[in-house]
Amino acid sequence: MTLKSGYPFWLVKNGLPFTFPKLDHDITTDVVIIGAGISGALVRYYLVNEGIDCVTLDARTIGLGSTSASTSLLQYEIDRPLCKLIDTVGKEKAERAYQLCGEAITKIGKISKELGLDDFEYKQSIYYAAFKKDVPMLKKEFEARKAAGFEVEYLEPDELLKQYGFKGHGAIRSKLAAQTNAYMFTHCLLQHRRNKKDNVNIYDRTEVTTIKHNKNGVTLKTESGYTVKCNKLVYATGYEVVNFIDKKIVDLQSTYAVISEQYNERPFWKDEALIWNTANPYLYLRTTPDNRVLIGGRDVWFHDPAKRDKLMKYKAKHLVEDANKLFPHLNFKPEFTWCGTFGSTKDMLPYIGEYKPLPNSYFSLGFGGNGITFSLIGAEIIRDLILGRDNKDAEIFKFDR
Ligand SMILES: Cc1cc2nc3c(=O)[nH]c(=O)nc-3n(C[C@H](O)[C@H](O)[C@H](O)COP(=O)(O)OP(=O)(O)OC[C@H]3O[C@@H](n4cnc5c(N)ncnc54)[C@H](O)[C@@H]3O)c2cc1C
Repeated sequence: MTLKSGYPFWLVKNGLPFTFPKLDHDITTDVVIIGAGISGALVRYYLVNEGIDCVTLDARTIGLGSTSASTSLLQYEIDRPLCKLIDTVGKEKAERAYQLCGEAITKIGKISKELGLDDFEYKQSIYYAAFKKDVPMLKKEFEARKAAGFEVEYLEPDELLKQYGFKGHGAIRSKLAAQTNAYMFTHCLLQHRRNKKDNVNIYDRTEVTTIKHNKNGVTLKTESGYTVKCNKLVYATGYEVVNFIDKKIVDLQSTYAVISEQYNERPFWKDEALIWNTANPYLYLRTTPDNRVLIGGRDVWFHDPAKRDKLMKYKAKHLVEDANKLFPHLNFKPEFTWCGTFGSTKDMLPYIGEYKPLPNSYFSLGFGGNGITFSLIGAEIIRDLILGRDNKDAEIFKFDR
């Protein structure tokens, strides 16, 4: 599956900051993690901190899956509004899922600081009604978030225009949000404790082609014919998990992003808040520390890479128009455009934990617009499951929910 195309900005900007060997021998270890995107990197970070021996295997060059295409907005706001998620999974679980995403933002901030990643900035988030018909839902959502303990404010259209300079039919302003660089964050995580002893435990360009689960462990074969044996296996394979499990858990789509040329100044909008809206598919905007504006959205409900890529120019043109319509003063000039595969689940929550037909394995599948915060939640749950610790939140994201 090709997960992305075009020129993802952070991949162009950061290139290949670190390189890794290809696996060229057999290995026996405690835990194997398949996938070195942000999900696998976070699982590794948590396991290494617990002193667990783990080996990471990735079919691609490190980070070049969906993670390199990510636009890296960090929001507690799941793709399904809280007021609707309550109807789907109940109040307690819905609120807890939102709160966990909120906590994940703060935890990612702390880890970024510990690892010396500069590209993490707290921001506010503006969720605005794209259409008049969405206003009742937006007001209900505001009440649901307030009741769940989030710091939110409701902005009427005139206040939104006055403060932020764009037209919407009302908005929720959330205090807690952030933006980062998922690609560099992943690289920083993988360097964590990558000392001499650990130096050889991350392998890229190493595709796992066969996996045999049994009562006592798991045996993997790589494309080059090497055998890796482990007690526990973590699947952090992103959207390509569809190659490993028969249960249909995700609908794959395609999404598009465009980033502007650098501006000489920062003529953007108040506090450079993250902006997104109630349209379906939704539109979102952020800025970057090097004076750019990024706009994304215009999703299509298929993931055929050839069809997806054919539309890139057309989608980019419309995204540029969207940016200029919202903020005419920006005179948005596109520099890099890219697209990627994206997935959503029946309740917009990720799948994390064990999948019974495949013993001794755990999954961290952060599907959806909040993929990154879900990856953090997944890493903590998997650490606890592997260590045999109780984790009450695991229930919310389990496979047979
Ligand atoms: C355009 C775009 C914008 C996005 N914007 C945001 C955003 O603003 N905020 C947000 O939170 N999320 C966003 N997302 C989603 C987010 O980027 C993803 O949820 C996240 O990157 C997924 O990370 P991952 O590690 O699970 O998957 P990946 O990064 O795809 O990593 C999985 C890895 O598993 C490896 N793998 C798979 N199968 C095998 C195998 N058989 N053998 C060995 N290795 C294998 C792959 O090579 C791959 O590198 C966006 C996604 C896209 C495409």
